[in-house]
Amino acid sequence: MRRQYMNPAIFHLYREPLLIVEGYMQYLYDETGRRYLDLFAGIVTVSVGHSHPAFVRRVQEQVGTLQHSTTIYLHPNVALLAKKLASKMPQGLDVTYFVNSGSEANDLAITMARLFTGHRDVVALRNAYHGGSPSSLGLTSHSTWKFPVGGDGHVHHVVNPDPYRSPFEGTPEEIATKSAREIREIVRYSTPGKIAAFIAEPIQGVGGATHGAENYLREAYATTREHGGLCIADEVQTGFGRTGEHYWGFQNFGVVPDFVTMAKGIGNGAPLAAVTTRMDIAKTLTQRVHFNTYGGNPVSMAAGLAVLDIIDEDGLQENSRVVGGRFKAGLERLQRSHSLIGDVRGMGLMLGVELVRDRASKEPAKQETLDVLEAMRESGALIGKGGLDGNVLRIKPPMCITAADVDFALDALDEALGRAGRRQSP
Ligand code: PMP
Repeated sequence: MRRQYMNPAIFHLYREPLLIVEGYMQYLYDETGRRYLDLFAGIVTVSVGHSHPAFVRRVQEQVGTLQHSTTIYLHPNVALLAKKLASKMPQGLDVTYFVNSGSEANDLAITMARLFTGHRDVVALRNAYHGGSPSSLGLTSHSTWKFPVGGDGHVHHVVNPDPYRSPFEGTPEEIATKSAREIREIVRYSTPGKIAAFIAEPIQGVGGATHGAENYLREAYATTREHGGLCIADEVQTGFGRTGEHYWGFQNFGVVPDFVTMAKGIGNGAPLAAVTTRMDIAKTLTQRVHFNTYGGNPVSMAAGLAVLDIIDEDGLQENSRVVGGRFKAGLERLQRSHSLIGDVRGMGLMLGVELVRDRASKEPAKQETLDVLEAMRESGALIGKGGLDGNVLRIKPPMCITAADVDFALDALDEALGRAGRRQSP
């Protein structure tokens, strides 16, 4: 049915497609009732847990009361969620526009940055993913996702600061400084000398949990501002406590952006995304009519309000820190016994494991990554994959995962890596 009636571009992850019919907290169930530990959370979206009882109750209450109204009428939910988001942000970042997807949120941030600065050029990072709409695809930096149509001729991609595959040498901090200097060079060579914005995911998600040393964003933001640009933190994957130490990914790097774009985890699966910025920047949108039919939908807003409350009530940021720390330490232990693991990186419950055929050449272990995914499924754990070459295991479960789940996943991974590694050896 799917093959006949759906666009053939829709793909599935496993060799034998997996049918999922039910979810509860960190677990998913197939049509036979088999349980899987969900380590990918519907692509980093189910933040508080599948069908979390408090989430379900609050969304159901809203669906039964008022489903849709649009922002042309007043409804408390939309203002309450905007206020709640402001309470989680650094001071001054307190004005929000709600939309439906991360792509739209990034589009809107770029529009506002261009209007506010009067400049057009935007700097983004190589290996970034910022969306699939014609304009956000211009920000995305993976040939695998780019179609040879449309795009945005004013986006420039600079080298990202990931020390594992950097063209630069040195310590992670030196690599970060050298990478940040590239922004100055691209501005000098490829723009009129001024830019509208610099956009980056604090930790790249689709790119495979890559990030730079702590000094990178600080230096990149300073260079951007020197050239008249605004800084956009794409928190679509890193936000809402997932990185453990902090609520927002950018806080791990000691910076304050001018825009925070959000999606995925904010809605726990509801189609909800947002751009938060300062009032002086937000006002630029008033020069024309701007409207988004579903942005601010009362049911999506109820979902967002429930998510933010549950993150605090269930202590999910702290859980991401503690349980994520346990997970990362376990992955580092596996790295010592499996030569397939080239790099372990990430923070909290946003982790990546890069698989390579050879630690010296770093040849991407693409097939082995697929084999690990299949073997994990057999063991009852669903894991993600990413990176330009598809050779990074992505571990980003619902934030309610427990230490026992982590230990189970590590055992399953140990076995899966052993099998994939044996197949690899001649
Ligand atoms: N930014 C990031 C960091 C993302 O990971 C994604 C989606 N993978 C997007 C933006 C785009 O979000 P959406 O698919 O909701 O348009």
